[in-house]
Amino acid sequence: MINVLIWNEFIHEKQQPEVAEIYPKGIHRQIGKYLSADKNISVRYASLDMENCGITKELLEDTDVLIWWGHQAHDKVSDDIVKLCADRINGGMGFIPLHSSHHSKLFKALCGTSCNLKWRHGDRERIWCVNPFHPIAKGIPEQFELPREEMYGEPFDIPNPEEVVFMGWFSGGEVFRSGVTFRRGGGKIFYFQPGHEEYPVYHNENVLKIIANAVKWAAPEARESKNILCTNPEPLEKGLE
Ligand code: ZN
Repeated sequence: MINVLIWNEFIHEKQQPEVAEIYPKGIHRQIGKYLSADKNISVRYASLDMENCGITKELLEDTDVLIWWGHQAHDKVSDDIVKLCADRINGGMGFIPLHSSHHSKLFKALCGTSCNLKWRHGDRERIWCVNPFHPIAKGIPEQFELPREEMYGEPFDIPNPEEVVFMGWFSGGEVFRSGVTFRRGGGKIFYFQPGHEEYPVYHNENVLKIIANAVKWAAPEARESKNILCTNPEPLEKGLE
């Protein structure tokens, strides 16, 4: 069983009726509903309005993959929570930051760069699968279209990804590395660009399937953290006399 924790800022859905219409129970519940249909995936939820943002050390220790959606309140997530999550990711937990989570404290801490990009509302996106042999691309067509999506454009200030699985092309002319992987310590990370709150992007079957594939790819074989220790051991054998 893969234990997934979906964290959502959960503000737009409560403040903007047009967003609530698309996601009446929140973006997290919409993604979770799809993932829960897989009997090998167990989903829990957390949001900014919960105590400690709904995140505890115990909960993270029982989590295999953390999905994150944030936009307007990145700074409301405490540095303590960011450290808790980053430590667990380094210790082996998978991490899937979505859309505007490129500017979350957690993703920026893991990248060590600004994670800045170009953006513009109201565009059309064609997502190209540029690594069809990757597990996250399983069952995904060569390309598919999102009729309405926010444009995210290059240059995207991230460290060179380990793999680029998807590229986005926008009708305004820009291109973007829309699906990229990283590793930090034992943790596998998949950043996925689609998901602007004003458009029904998480109702798209391919987008949901990619997130489900990413959950399976990012899940560690064992749940316990294996943090790399900083020690100064005695040598195992005699070296220099
Ligand atoms: Zn957006």
